[in-house]
Amino acid sequence: MSVAEQKLAYLTAAGRFDICSPGECLQLLPVAVETRKASSAPEILPVPLENFRNSQEIPDPPVSTSRTAATGTREVSQAPAPRTVAPYISYNRRTGGCGRMLKMLLNGTCAYDCAYCPVRTQREPVSYSPREFADTFLRLWQDGLVEGLFLSSGIPRDVDYVMHDLVETGETLRRRGYGGYLHLKILPGATRADIHDAARVADRISINLETTSPDRLGGIAGVKDYRQDILKRQSWVAEEKPGGHTTQLVVGAADETDAEILSCLADQYRRVRPSRVYFSAFRSLPRTPLATHPDTPAWRAQRWYQADFLLRDYGITADELRAALDERGFFANRDPKVVLAAGRMPVNVNLAPRRDLLRVPGIGPKAADRILGLRRVRPFASPADLARAGVRGKAAARHLTFGDRDTIQTKLFP
Ligand code: SF4
Repeated sequence: MSVAEQKLAYLTAAGRFDICSPGECLQLLPVAVETRKASSAPEILPVPLENFRNSQEIPDPPVSTSRTAATGTREVSQAPAPRTVAPYISYNRRTGGCGRMLKMLLNGTCAYDCAYCPVRTQREPVSYSPREFADTFLRLWQDGLVEGLFLSSGIPRDVDYVMHDLVETGETLRRRGYGGYLHLKILPGATRADIHDAARVADRISINLETTSPDRLGGIAGVKDYRQDILKRQSWVAEEKPGGHTTQLVVGAADETDAEILSCLADQYRRVRPSRVYFSAFRSLPRTPLATHPDTPAWRAQRWYQADFLLRDYGITADELRAALDERGFFANRDPKVVLAAGRMPVNVNLAPRRDLLRVPGIGPKAADRILGLRRVRPFASPADLARAGVRGKAAARHLTFGDRDTIQTKLFP
């Protein structure tokens, strides 16, 4: 394995660094999962660079296309792909655009003290220079192995140097013909000028909130100032990249309640309107101050994804959503939309406005629009009839009635 490949192995974020990388529902390719399971390397913490000198053979990646740097067009690649790269490429199922995405750190160490983060425990000063990383990444891209890049970094020295390197990497890639998806992480405390430059060169930028308030952050990351280093920078991010920025919360790391997270989200959508908020369930890691802190159950982060969709895409307000919380938070293993619907009267599928249809479990924005169009032509007669609009009848039917307009008029004016 070449030095560049060893660095790639060490600094890749895929499946290793959940904290400074945004998660974004990334999933390792099946081949990577199998390889990692078979490996003697630790599951979460990066293994020492030394270990990669004896790494096991890795199957060929299941990729057969390539691109030219000059035109960005695809061609069939005759050259076999590097055999050591596949496990570090993530497959993003949700974007529908960027596909295979490399998640990387430019620097593998950090001088900050975030109690939940595996990077702070790393001692090997492994890093890429912008030019070196651009060379490595462009090779992968031209071989058709990757289609997108998420680039973050630990902060081993002054944050301005690291931000400059992140931006310079993005600029180098663009200058050399890379036209694919590029997501750059904005580091806490970054300057306005660097945020401006990152927004110009990247498709998406993000800065992590990590938790809900200055007090909560103070308990897990004393070096960062929540208001100055994060919220102020996030308002710049929103101005420089409206509609193209995201953030992340580590659910449970700071013992924040679900009511606090809900208030934080309401504030986010009111103030800076992130295009997505990502939630990662806290996992304790050995050799960190939170090594004995209880893990957050996966369902709690899942509930937050559901609640976030309701806030963002369904027009449900934070005040409405509060009704889905009890004093401990979300009811375990119950979709907040189902909890809210349980307290409402059924609505008539042939008469209800879009707003009410969206509050029915099993009906999303697309299905609501289909119902509105189809019922003009022919009213829905029964739960089975909902299939016309692509709605699973059972989930929705108990919250719907099926009288048509004539039936309702007859009842109102007998
Ligand atoms: S700033 Fe904190 S979360 Fe980010 S890499 Fe450094 S220690 Fe980890």
